[in-house]
Formats: sequence, structure tokens, C-alpha cells
Amino acid sequence: MNNPPIRLGLVGIGKIARDQHLPAIAADDRFRLVATASRHATLPGTPGHADIDALLRGGHGLHAVSLCTPPSGRFEVAAAAIDAGLHVMVEKPPGATVSEVVELARRAEKAGVTLFATWHSREAAGVDAARVWLATRSIRSVRIEWREDIRVWHPGQDWILEAGGFGVFDPGINALSIATAILPQALRISSSTLHVPANRAAPIAASLAMVHGADTPVSAEFDFLQTGPQSWDIIVETDDGVLRLSEGGRRLSINGTAALESANREYPRLYQRFADLIAAGDSDIDLRPLQLVADAFLVGRTISTASFEY
Ligand code: NAP
Repeated sequence: MNNPPIRLGLVGIGKIARDQHLPAIAADDRFRLVATASRHATLPGTPGHADIDALLRGGHGLHAVSLCTPPSGRFEVAAAAIDAGLHVMVEKPPGATVSEVVELARRAEKAGVTLFATWHSREAAGVDAARVWLATRSIRSVRIEWREDIRVWHPGQDWILEAGGFGVFDPGINALSIATAILPQALRISSSTLHVPANRAAPIAASLAMVHGADTPVSAEFDFLQTGPQSWDIIVETDDGVLRLSEGGRRLSINGTAALESANREYPRLYQRFADLIAAGDSDIDLRPLQLVADAFLVGRTISTASFEY
């Protein structure tokens, strides 16, 4: 007999909730969306509340919540849900600071609920194959190029350039989530340069120098002002040729020959994994991408650049 569906609440009805979460939940019969919480938005036909406390008091028989709010303020929402005994799935980045996510992990373990800190880019089609290919090669260098147009992908999202909004690390952390998943050894930050608009608090561009394992150089260029062609590429030079993951991990080529390309199933895969984690009584919290961003801020040299308006 099939288990009854997981009664899910969705918090923060914005761009990613509408673009990806709603279709993925609707297509997954292990979940039933029963209510939402968002200060301004509601969904037709679904009970909506203004905040997490009203959602939790709403009498919806919730088993789980999925959080699609910005990282700042997510801790209070996640903590309230965990303390109410609900399983919690959070968008990336899992929090505004490393220490608040560590505290969420502690609370989830104590409460015996699942905490799933998602990294959607790791679910892109080429990522698993890249990890397998690289596992048996010797890596000589890695180059990350993550350049996108903030006005196209984050229209009017002022929070992203506020303190705790991550700035260009909001997309950049996706690259770091892939890099930490496909590279066999640990990454560490050695230096970084952060370009912060004069009228904003978070970087709009960043250059990182990292080391993989003992001494393999890894560079990353993150740019939020890229017009024209956009690039979300990771290029790994090995003793056996060049691996290129492009289009955010969707397309994989080896030595210039296409090895894999597939449609985007990142969010259906995330919800499948959330259901599996709940069934197994496990959590999945990998802090490495967030830790790298925190370290980039710790050692970062800040350069003030031209003011930015949408
Ligand atoms: P968004 O369009 O701004 O939506 C976030 C929603 O959260 C808002 O519509 C807002 O709805 C609610 N919210 C609650 N507190 C807020 C606050 N203090 N400031 C602003 N909004 C607040 O942002 P998004 O693009 O969906 O991103 C949300 C999260 O998903 C981020 O962590 C982001 O990194 C991640 N993500 C985004 C994308 C993307 O392509 N945009 C892709 C993957 C992951 P109410 O006003 O109704 O409360």
C-alpha cells in the first residue's frame, strides 16, 4: 500500500517558488501542498497565511515545510518549523551564516526531524557523471566562470545586494556547490577580491583564488553584470584531458566532445530526495559551499565600484 502523501507547506512565494517548486510539487505524488506562508502572495485554491506562525497554527496537519525565502531571516522560520516537529527543506544558501545552519542541524537532530539543505545545481544532469569521470583522474587546474545578468535573473530583488543577501555569491554558491561535489579533494580559499557597488552592501562581482587538495590551483570569476551570452562553466584540466561542465551543469563535454546533455530535472530530484530522507529518518546538510563563501568574505579585499540600480 502507498504511504499517504506528505502534507507540505510552502514558505516565501517568489520567483523560485513559482518557477520551480510549485511544478515539482504538483508532479510528485508523494507530496500534497496544503498551505502557504508569504507576506504578500497567495496561491488560488490553497489556504495562505502571512507568516510561519500563522501557518503552523493553521490546523493543516502539516508534516513538512519547504522554505523559499531569502537566506536572511530563514533561520527563524526554519527553527519555528523544526521546533513544531516538522521536516524542513531549505533553498540554497541554507542560511545567512554558517553558525545558524549548524544550530538548525542540532535542533533537527534533537527533534528527530529531517533537515534538507538543498543545493539544486548538484542535481543538474552532468554533475554525477563529472564526479565519476574526475574520480580516477589527476587534476591540474580548475577554472570557474559564473557570469550572469542580475537584471535578467533577479529583477528588482534588492535583498540580494543587502548585507546577508550574498550578492554575486547567490549564483556563485551554485558553482561552489558543484565544485565541492565533483572534485575529489577539499577546496580552500586562499584569497578573494570583492567588488561592492557604492550604494549597496554585497558584492556585484568577485574573484576567488582557491586550492584543491595539496596544491592544485582553482580560480573562480563571479560577475553579476554580464550582458549578452551568459556563462555558468566549470573547466577542469586533468592528466587525461579537459572536462567542461557548462550551462550550470546541464551539459558535459570531455576534450571538446559532448558527453552528456539533458533537460533540467533539478527540482523534481530535490523533492524525491526530500521524500526519501523523510522516509529514512535522515538529514542532508553539507555546509562546504557556504563555508567557502564565508571564507571568501573573511579574507576578501573589498573594492568600491559604481553604484548599481536595477
Ligand atoms: P524572491 O523572488 O525575492 O522571492 C522570495 C520571496 O520570499 C519573496 O517573494 C517574499 O514573498 C518572501 N520573503 C520573505 N522575507 C523576505 C525578505 N526579507 N525579503 C524579500 N522577500 C522575502 O527570491 P527568489 O529568487 O525566489 O529566491 C529565494 C531563494 O531561492 C534564495 O535563497 C535564492 O538563492 C534561491 N534560488 C533562487 C533562484 C532564482 O532563479 N531566482 C534559483 C534557485 C534558488 P512575500 O513578500 O510574499 O513574503
